[in-house]
Amino acid sequence: MRLGLMTILLGYFLSAVGAIAFPASNEKQVALTQAERDWIAQQPPLRAGMTTAYPPFSYRDPTGKLAGVDVDILNLISERTGLKFKIVDRSSWEKVAKLALDNQLDFCSGVAQTPERLEKFSFTRPYSDSPVVIVGQEGDYRFQHISLLSEARIAMPRQHSVTAALAKRLPSARVILADTPAECFKLVEQKKADATIANLFVTTRYLNENPGSGLMICGVVREFSFPIRLAAARDKGPLLDILDNALATISLEEMDRILSKHLLFELQGGQRIEFLQQWMGKIVAGCLLVVALLLLWNFLVRKEVRARRLAEAELRKVNDELREANQETKVFAYSLSHDLKGPLRAISGFAEILKEDYQDKLDPEGQENLDRVISGASRMSNLIRDILLYSRASHSETTLQTIPLNSMVPQLINEFPPEQRKCFEIVSPLPEVKGDPTLLSQCIANLLANAVKFVPNDRVPKIRIRAESEDSIVKLWVEDNGIGIAPEDRERIFKIFERAAPSDYDGTGIGLAIVTKAIKQMEGTVGVESEFGKGSRFWIRLHAAGKEKPAAKSGHTRFFRRQPVPS
Ligand code: ADP
Repeated sequence: MRLGLMTILLGYFLSAVGAIAFPASNEKQVALTQAERDWIAQQPPLRAGMTTAYPPFSYRDPTGKLAGVDVDILNLISERTGLKFKIVDRSSWEKVAKLALDNQLDFCSGVAQTPERLEKFSFTRPYSDSPVVIVGQEGDYRFQHISLLSEARIAMPRQHSVTAALAKRLPSARVILADTPAECFKLVEQKKADATIANLFVTTRYLNENPGSGLMICGVVREFSFPIRLAAARDKGPLLDILDNALATISLEEMDRILSKHLLFELQGGQRIEFLQQWMGKIVAGCLLVVALLLLWNFLVRKEVRARRLAEAELRKVNDELREANQETKVFAYSLSHDLKGPLRAISGFAEILKEDYQDKLDPEGQENLDRVISGASRMSNLIRDILLYSRASHSETTLQTIPLNSMVPQLINEFPPEQRKCFEIVSPLPEVKGDPTLLSQCIANLLANAVKFVPNDRVPKIRIRAESEDSIVKLWVEDNGIGIAPEDRERIFKIFERAAPSDYDGTGIGLAIVTKAIKQMEGTVGVESEFGKGSRFWIRLHAAGKEKPAAKSGHTRFFRRQPVPS
């Protein structure tokens, strides 16, 4: 992939270069005027600035000597014009640019022409016009085009024309600045950056020199075109014309040879093998390590499997015990209710008989005590009934099916005494929900009964039932104009035996706990909003029904009447 794309790009380059920069002929003479020759003769060696960090254009070879396309070109120019050069090199382009701005150089090589630079420098014709490419990590195919880099971390060299162009093109890009293109490649290699954008020749040279870099060319950026030229300060007499004329004498073949030499193509194959050999030992050691790790992993997995099996067996035992305990609780709740109901019926029955037959014979204190027995027995009866309902809500097997609230709610309202039925208003239509018919009718009945019950005596209860549907969720509201609930009580009243109303309101404190349990069984939630003293709005949230068959109208068990509703 990498070499394929590189070949195509180099092909593109060679045709582009042929078109703009170099004569097809092999003209070696620079045509100089007498004035130019005289000027050259008077000049001391001219200070030519270049960076050592721009291979293949300018760099230090392994012996530390300055080399590169730019050096070879200056040598040719010197041969063909008689100009003498003294190369002033710096480790980054930023430092060279500073020298040029401080007027400490006569000219620089390897410079792209930009409108800002044109204000201070004059430029020769280009001697290299390589495309600009996106370089990323091998196998990372996200960045085939510049526009795909807008969210990427892009490593870029300081003061480079491509860096400035990128900032304009993608103002939101996260640019990580480095001193040199090589540092940018390193940042991508180390995954500290996602990509860098660089001259194709600079990239080719780096990839050839570092075959194990793990980098690849991901895409081309044709909209960035930065041909490389020589740039001279504006006050350097005929220097620019001489350099420009000299560049014109360098033929296409000469330029190809120079470039190919510095692109290190010959290193590609040989260095790869060397690289592989170097890594062979490491690879073998790595394989051995992997085998050892696999064995260790195998051992640990076996140990873990054994431990998990034991834990599962333990869990099964606990589950069985829990199921047994649940069953026992259920049986206990039933027998509690049945066994207590008999004696309780006897207490309240005989107390009623006493009241009917012997009321006249009792003094006022005796009568009051007898009334207390009767109301205590009634409260206990309610309590037993509610505990039984709570136990059923906790342990019943739920079967979720489609329930049309449109028919369930009116049916439940019909259970109220006629004069109370008038207090209810249903905002039709009510949707269908997914629920268990028995549990849901129990929940709604409890909310309706509370809505009627917790209204001050001097107020006519007004209860509104409405629903909201959103996506696959239905929220059913029961709103009343009763006593309301103080903010600090709104959470706790959903727990068993928690009550917040004054004691003259009858109740066991179990109704909302039943609602909570039952709604949870139906994968829903319950809550309340309230304005203290003015009313409450209880809601239950359930899944909307899908396409299942609606539950039969009389499908739910009638055990929902919790408290005797005073008529
Ligand atoms: P109970 O009604 O038997 O007291 P609940 O569990 O049904 O038990 O209700 C718990 C408490 O929540 C009630 O005692 C009351 O304080 C409060 N409550 C429930 N419904 C309402 C309501 N609609 N308006 C005001 N308070 C309410």
